[in-house]
Amino acid sequence: MALIVQKFGGTSVANPDRIKNVAARVKKYRDQGDQVVVVVSAMSGVTDGLIKMAKEIMPLPNDREMDMLLATGEQQTIALTSIALHALGLPATSLTGAQAGIVTDGVHTKAKIKNISPKHVHELLDGGNVVIVAGFQGQTLEGQITTLGRGGSDLTAIALAAALKADLCQIYTDVDGVYTADPRIVKSAKKLPEISYDEMLELASLGAKVMQSRSVEFAKKFGVVFEVRSSLNDNLGTIVKEETLSMEGVVIRGVSLDKNQAKVTLVAVPDKPGVAARVFKAIADANLNVDMIVQNISHNAGMPATDLSFTVDKPDLLKAKLVIEGLKGEIGYKEVLADEKIGKLSIVGVGMRSHPGVAAKMFETLALEQVNIDMISTSEIKISVIIDLEKGEQAMRALHEAFLG
Ligand code: ASP
Ligand code: MG
Repeated sequence: MALIVQKFGGTSVANPDRIKNVAARVKKYRDQGDQVVVVVSAMSGVTDGLIKMAKEIMPLPNDREMDMLLATGEQQTIALTSIALHALGLPATSLTGAQAGIVTDGVHTKAKIKNISPKHVHELLDGGNVVIVAGFQGQTLEGQITTLGRGGSDLTAIALAAALKADLCQIYTDVDGVYTADPRIVKSAKKLPEISYDEMLELASLGAKVMQSRSVEFAKKFGVVFEVRSSLNDNLGTIVKEETLSMEGVVIRGVSLDKNQAKVTLVAVPDKPGVAARVFKAIADANLNVDMIVQNISHNAGMPATDLSFTVDKPDLLKAKLVIEGLKGEIGYKEVLADEKIGKLSIVGVGMRSHPGVAAKMFETLALEQVNIDMISTSEIKISVIIDLEKGEQAMRALHEAFLG
């Protein structure tokens, strides 16, 4: 008998038939004698629809109220999933994040899990129930409902698997696993049997959209091995785990394109100590995550000034621009530009550490495609470039061809 955490994303619970499908899968594991904890997302499109309605009323709605609103999406799905299990004759109980003991900090819309007390979940499991937990949500110690950031149901599943010391954690989605590139864009993309946490983390945070990156960080930190697989068939998925020696033999594991970034540029910022600190302190105080930062050398010896660009998630662009505009009097830049039409294209692989010439090959490939590089950033196992969004998919296919055939 194993304790299994199974997470089903929005497309896997998109309608009553899909939910019945989930219930049938859960039943298979139950019939083998396993204990099952199911984590579900909102039905696909529901969270987006709720956000859209709120924004129709006001462009920047209050974060606490957004959590109150968005948490309802998952609450629908847990009840429906529980009902689908009852229909198959299985005892099942649905729990909100709070009822499952998920305690978070108070940063609304991006809360972090502080701890999980899964006592109630254990009791229900021991009583023979399938337990269905609402993904993406938790509660502060003061009883405020919070959400964990978009895609946060993955984090709920991984964190629950860690807290429950589950034997197995399966992330069910609408793709067969993690691919060398998005197969909808790159026809020759291949499914990976396994991938390291670090590579997965880069791919997730680079917009490969397989999983929420915070959930992969969490899995790495707590050593939760998990499988990404499809809820629509019985194919084996991709195992995500600690790096092994054989993984280094492959130079590039995957190529990804993030279309969800936007760029903010401060034009002609005075080049003197403390300016960057002031800018990014203000951005951090607004709880905005910055990804890439590029600052140029300054010209004009008398009054040195430079351009400073950084990227944020697209939905945060308006907030970021407002924060920067608020600093205009204090730091005295010339103007602020916001650009949504960018894409972040990246190649990832732990093998990069031991194989030289990877960057040169990437830039050559882009040059041949007439793709202009706007910003560059690198880590030990990744190279990312910001390019024109319009050329994103074409450039992605070219890189995949060059590195992965
Ligand atoms: N429903 C939430 C979202 O769409 C959480 C999730 O799907 O994981 O972001
Ligand atoms: Mg999702």
